[in-house]
Amino acid sequence: MTDLTPESTAYRAALDVIRGVEPRVADAIGQELTDQREMLKLIASENYASPATLLTMGNWFSDKYAEGTVGRRFYAGCRNVDTVESLAAEHARELFGAQHAYVQPHSGIDANLVAFWAVLADRVEAPFLAKTGVRQINDLTDADWAELRQAFGNQRMLGMSLDAGGHLTHGFRPNISGKMFDQRSYGTDPATGLIDYEALRAQAREFKPLIIVAGYSAYPRLVNFRIMREIADEVGATLMVDMAHFAGLVAGKVLTGDFDPVPHAQIVTTTTHKSLRGPRGGMVLCDDSLKDQVDRGCPMVLGGPLPHVMAAKAVALAEARRPEFRTYAQAVVDNARALAEGLTRRGATLVTGGTDNHLNLIDVATSYGLTGRQAESALLDSGIVTNRNAIPADPNGAWYTSGIRIGTPALTTRGLGTAEMDEIAALMDRVLAAAEPGTTSKGTQSKAQHVLDAKISDEVAHRAADLLAGFPLYPTVDLT
Ligand code: PLP
Repeated sequence: MTDLTPESTAYRAALDVIRGVEPRVADAIGQELTDQREMLKLIASENYASPATLLTMGNWFSDKYAEGTVGRRFYAGCRNVDTVESLAAEHARELFGAQHAYVQPHSGIDANLVAFWAVLADRVEAPFLAKTGVRQINDLTDADWAELRQAFGNQRMLGMSLDAGGHLTHGFRPNISGKMFDQRSYGTDPATGLIDYEALRAQAREFKPLIIVAGYSAYPRLVNFRIMREIADEVGATLMVDMAHFAGLVAGKVLTGDFDPVPHAQIVTTTTHKSLRGPRGGMVLCDDSLKDQVDRGCPMVLGGPLPHVMAAKAVALAEARRPEFRTYAQAVVDNARALAEGLTRRGATLVTGGTDNHLNLIDVATSYGLTGRQAESALLDSGIVTNRNAIPADPNGAWYTSGIRIGTPALTTRGLGTAEMDEIAALMDRVLAAAEPGTTSKGTQSKAQHVLDAKISDEVAHRAADLLAGFPLYPTVDLT
């Protein structure tokens, strides 16, 4: 019998304990590992956190309430939470060169809410309090409070439109951000698919937003944050960058200079679980000028922090400070480029013609006559997990879409390189070229159904599984 690794020992013991209470949960956890191992995962927003990061989340830190900030809590007994929160913030500041880091947000949407309200508190509430001569909002008269609440609701925000690659928290009406702000969107140049900074400047001059939000979920190119800040300064806006998707590339020093948001934006938000490869969570980085407002995330929009996740953020951020992470981040981009080249060579049309970051957006309507939904299902039948995504001016709308978004952070963590990306491009092209739109029950062409010869999907699924077999996921974890 071979010796068990520490990870195998830890996870076997944990699953035994869980099995003693609710075996179906233990089974689901085990099955999830099997499924993840078998998936060829190209979802641009997902990754695989390290066993150290994952193990850090499974303990008694979860039991603790710690509202407040380090050293200033509303609960007693927080010294260990103070330790991990301080460590996570310190690693974040060092890694990103930020003046201040707030590591309590539970997710990306929470981080954005903290940032929006920090800016509103700084630029709307604080001057209002100064004007009325009171120190805090609880001391305002009912009439003044009503006026301030009106003022909060009348602020303007300019964010990237959803179909150009922006995120729904950047002012999309069904999201709270679209309800809070008088919002307008900037798009991309229809000819190139790129951000047109002069058009954006003209829009900002005319609209005069309080906040300009840069950052994206599905834009495959670089954003020049120096120019974005210049535009924001010109119109008196605060520049907020949501780097949720590309934080790993900033951490890994692939995005530097004009393309690193931290030196240019007054406030930067991120998730910690995408390209940054940490636990599921969020984070805000800011100038010292916004520190006090950001630290009021709780009680502004958050409740108690998740100490077990803050501890895991500290572990993952420590990992991201290692030199290996730079090699990883560069490989993510090299792989995305190799995938773009492999697909383009086989005839696929990519939005903007390629990529400079970790993701590609395939226009499957133009390339293969499919909706995004049909392409997503055909690929899933063939063992390739992606997600459909709207493309600029999408004729198929946000539900069916005309695009497939693919990203390389997860497969790069598994160790796949540029040669494998070319093989994956070949597999994807084989599926998408063979798939056809299906028909509805009324005999008309469906936007949801597809038809794909099972021989092809089986063959591709086998080839994908063979490819992954050479790059085991969580190789130190053996549950058998
Ligand atoms: N911001 C961007 C740019 C994102 O892509 C996402 C998630 O996809 C979020 C925010 C929201 O993150 P979360 O799902 O953690 O709330």
